[in-house]
Amino acid sequence: MESKKVKNTAFLLLGALVVILCLVLVFGKRGKKDDNGITVVCSFYPVYVIAQNLLEGTGCNVVNMTENLTGCIHDYQMTTKDMKSLENASLLLVNGAGMESFLDNVKKNYPALTIVEMASTHAEEHNPHVWMNVDYEMDCIDYLSATLCKQFPRLEDKIKKNAEAFGNKVFEGPYKKKYVLSDVILEYGKDIQCICFNEAFELFTESLGLHNIAVFSLDENEQPSANEIAEAIEKAKKCEEVVVLIEEDLAFNADKIVKETGAKVIFMDPLTSGDNMDSYVNGMTDNLMAMKVLFE
Ligand SMILES: [Zn+2]
Repeated sequence: MESKKVKNTAFLLLGALVVILCLVLVFGKRGKKDDNGITVVCSFYPVYVIAQNLLEGTGCNVVNMTENLTGCIHDYQMTTKDMKSLENASLLLVNGAGMESFLDNVKKNYPALTIVEMASTHAEEHNPHVWMNVDYEMDCIDYLSATLCKQFPRLEDKIKKNAEAFGNKVFEGPYKKKYVLSDVILEYGKDIQCICFNEAFELFTESLGLHNIAVFSLDENEQPSANEIAEAIEKAKKCEEVVVLIEEDLAFNADKIVKETGAKVIFMDPLTSGDNMDSYVNGMTDNLMAMKVLFE
C-alpha cells in the first residue's frame, strides 16, 4: 500500500517535471522567436543606424562593433573581443573609403566573411564621411537595402518596406531641408567661407554649396596646432564672412579664431553616435537648422 503511494507520488512528480520541461521548451523558443540566426555586424554608428532601420523586425541580430565609441574610427584597432564578434557574423557592414584601416586584418582572419562597404556608392569622393551629405545617405540606404535583400532573399519584402519607410523619413526631413537651404545659400550665401573643425563637416558644407578655407582633420580629443589656427586666421581675415563649424563640447578650440576674426560659430554633430533609430534623421535635421544662423 505504502509503496503504491510512493509510486503514485513519483509518477505525479515525473508528470509535473515533463509539463515544466515542455513549458520551458515552448516559451523558451517563443522568447527567441525574433532571432532568425542572422547576425549583421556594423563597424560603427553611421553604418549601424542604417542597418538598424533596414533590418527592424526581421529577427536579425544587428551589432555595432564599436558601440562604446562616440567618434569616427579612422585609427581604430580591433580588439580581441571585436575579432571574436565576427566569428558568428553573417555579414560585416562597413563605411569603406578608407575609414576602417583594420579591414585587411579582418580579411586575413575571416576570408569567407562577406564585407559590404556603404561608401562604395561614392568611391570618387575624397572624404569618407559620406553620411554627412544627405544625398549620399539616400544612396547608401538604397545600396545597403539592395545588398541585404540579395544576401538574405527570404527577408526581401520586409527589408524593402523598411528601406522605403526610412528613405521617406530622410526625404521628408533632412533631404527637403537641405534643398531649401542650398537654394538660399546659392542666392545669398556665395561669400560665406567655412572653417571646419572636423573632416566630417567638410562634406556637409560642400553638399550645401559652401566653401571651406580650412578643414582640421582631428581625431577625438585632438586640437589643431597653433600654426594651423594662425593660418586659418590669416585666410579668414581676407574674407567677407566666415563661419566656424565645431562640436559644441570642443567649441573652446575656436576661441582664438572667433576673437580675431569675428567669425560666427555653428555647433555641429558629426552624427557618429546616437541612442535611437531616428538619431540620424533628427541629428541631420538639427545640423541643417543650425545653419539658419547664417541668415539671421
Ligand atoms: Zn572622421
